[in-house]
Amino acid sequence: MKAIRGATTVGKDTAEEIKKSVEELLLTIKRRNGLNDENIVCIMFSNTSDIKSYYPAKAAREAGFFSCALYSSLEPEICGALPKCIRVMIFAEIESSPKHVYLKGAADLRKDLSKKLNIAIDGPAGSGKSTISKILASRFDILYLDTGAMYRACALACVRENIDCKDEAGVDKIIGGINISVKYENGSQKTLLNGEDVSDKIRTPEISMLASSVSAHGSVRKKMVELQREIAKQNSCVLDGRDIGTNVLPDAEFKFFLTASPEIRAERRMKENREKGIEQPFDSVLKEIILRDEQDRNRKIAPLLKAADANEVDTGDMTVGEVVDCIVRHIQGGI
Ligand code: C5P
Repeated sequence: MKAIRGATTVGKDTAEEIKKSVEELLLTIKRRNGLNDENIVCIMFSNTSDIKSYYPAKAAREAGFFSCALYSSLEPEICGALPKCIRVMIFAEIESSPKHVYLKGAADLRKDLSKKLNIAIDGPAGSGKSTISKILASRFDILYLDTGAMYRACALACVRENIDCKDEAGVDKIIGGINISVKYENGSQKTLLNGEDVSDKIRTPEISMLASSVSAHGSVRKKMVELQREIAKQNSCVLDGRDIGTNVLPDAEFKFFLTASPEIRAERRMKENREKGIEQPFDSVLKEIILRDEQDRNRKIAPLLKAADANEVDTGDMTVGEVVDCIVRHIQGGI
């Protein structure tokens, strides 16, 4: 008999989050240790006192762990303890050495065991990258890095300096003096241009096209890619863009390439714009999307391209939830 340890955290003390986190933790332990229902003898949970909405043991039962003994207990309040933490000990009849699993906030408890998670999500405009990436980041409790926002901020800098985004020499002259950075507020990315939060100002159709032009220049890509790699080195994160799997993080363990027909993508973009108060006729959105993709696909440096080892997901007929589930299943199968 072997004892397998694990822990995870929940973002909010709700029954739904507790059930989701417990299921994720147990299924990951099961998979990594090659457990089946017969060789699990018992599962014992403890949780910090700030978790009150659900018994982890009940969540385990509901997640399909029927044939073993289950038990939950409350941990004493310890000053400085990791908040909203669920710990587990599983006794199982296995021969191999146990593989302990520490997820989300609990990964820091055993840095030696937890590995950094970088997920690359590439694809053309409107393929659902940012919506899906945000949900994935929240699901895995890791950062979401919107790399397109960085190129958009570069385009805005050019507009402000009266530089034509297609004029490589002009862009080269100013790029060194521009400071692009990101910060996170309540988990959401703010994009800064020379310290100013330009997150909203870069979300216009004009900036979309200009970002595509400015991102074709080597000097711009070099600077942005360095920044993106640095963030990915320091943090577990989901990065979305055009060249994450091929160029920014060619060694990323998980790569996905999202697609959908130009019409579906234009429809989505039109809806998104409308929610932001931007009205644009369908034909003009479609034209812009096609033009931007063409520009992104045909540029010389790091064009929009599916990495050979990326999983392609055609999101055209799928709901957001279905795309997320498909990607999560894939990732959980691998970690
Ligand atoms: O994803 P988003 O529409 O915000 O990207 C704006 C533009 O930035 C894209 O059309 C593309 O030209 C560029 N981009 C890029 N490489 C990335 C992300 C975005 O070239 N990794």
